Amino acid sequence: MKKRTVLFFLTLLSISIYSFKKSPLNSLQAKVETPPKNIIFIIADGLGPASFTATRIWAKGSQGKLEMEKMPVTGYVKTYSASDFVTDSAASGTALASGVKTYNGAIGLSYAKVDPKGISRPLENIADVMKKAGKSVGLLTTTRITHATPASFYAHVKNRDMEDKIATQVASSSLDLLMGGGRSHFLPDRLDRENLRRLDGRDVILELKQKGWSYVSQKKELMNFKNKSAHGPLLGIFNECHLSYERIRETSFPDSEPSLKEMANFAVNFLGDNKKGFFLMIEAGRIDHASHDNNIEDMLRETLMLDECVGELLSSPLMKETLVVITADHETAGLAISGYGSLHETKGDKLIEIKKDAAGTVSSYISWATGPNAGVNQKLISKNLVHPSAQHTSEANHTAIDVMVLSSGPGSSSFMGFMNNTEIPRKILATLGLSFTSPVNAQNPISL
Ligand SMILES: [Zn+2]
Repeated sequence: MKKRTVLFFLTLLSISIYSFKKSPLNSLQAKVETPPKNIIFIIADGLGPASFTATRIWAKGSQGKLEMEKMPVTGYVKTYSASDFVTDSAASGTALASGVKTYNGAIGLSYAKVDPKGISRPLENIADVMKKAGKSVGLLTTTRITHATPASFYAHVKNRDMEDKIATQVASSSLDLLMGGGRSHFLPDRLDRENLRRLDGRDVILELKQKGWSYVSQKKELMNFKNKSAHGPLLGIFNECHLSYERIRETSFPDSEPSLKEMANFAVNFLGDNKKGFFLMIEAGRIDHASHDNNIEDMLRETLMLDECVGELLSSPLMKETLVVITADHETAGLAISGYGSLHETKGDKLIEIKKDAAGTVSSYISWATGPNAGVNQKLISKNLVHPSAQHTSEANHTAIDVMVLSSGPGSSSFMGFMNNTEIPRKILATLGLSFTSPVNAQNPISL
């Protein structure tokens, strides 16, 4: 009886293996498992599920569809850090770049309290692994390039505020392309300048040029830049501080500052000449800043610019061999969209308007959990951009809300379901048969 049962299961197993080999599902899986040539990793700083929904309703109406909704694979990401249940952009940037949970404030370093050596040690990042695999590597952001998220992909400092030091670490990075704002951390301070710059007297842009980097500071120069990554790395810095909000950029600085979409198109072209492919990290960094100020209109416009950028990338013929992964490092400010309004009419300005009745009572569909516009500061509500928050903080807090991960292209099927933020770079590398090689990454936690 026992033997017969074993025989029965063996027969069943061989039938299953045979049908698995023959099934169309298997050929589909084999196809999906073809490694991507290029990787585009997009980080929407501060974009939570409510910000995503609000952008859809504002820009397209409730029945509309964002470009990012074309991404066929969706999942959810847990963002806590090794020190706090709510992460900052440094710990989450490090998680997304190096696959390790660290403390809030850390850029590319492990957390001494959980590192088995009892000290904070430099972590390998995904840009380094991609470079070693022969790919061209680029980073672009709408924030200062020394800000926490982009810095996590090339720098190692114990505190995110050490941006002058972060700037000096570009020289030893794996980068072929670095674009965004933040000139003030690269140039020496001069009394005739209105911006506070480096106090150590170093001209880091000159130092990079001496090491073979090209440098552009205006959109026009960028658009006319013809060399490709094979001719040496390129630094593009288009503002002393963060790039302007898209709302301001398109009216006041259309010729000097490129948009996120323009930078992304340039980057794909610049990096795309490498036969071994490229790794490009794109950060839409100012969604977070607008949310910190309870500023719904700029939050929406920044997200819509990201959406247009994704739409254009997805329509490129490169996409057949490109894995695109979009996620956020955390949610910011606890956005809520509530109340009843007409299905067809509640969009655009109607969605974000602030109404005041005869008794002076204020209402809006949009509100925030935290931020400057609460309590004694509620008078700010007269400014149309700023909506009420429940809890007063001088700038809104980040929240613990899970964020989305959306993906498309070869290897995207592994980004389904719930995951930790630290798994994302590891999964990206795994699609190429790669992994982090440093023992420091291996010895530090993916989860806690
Ligand atoms: Zn933030």
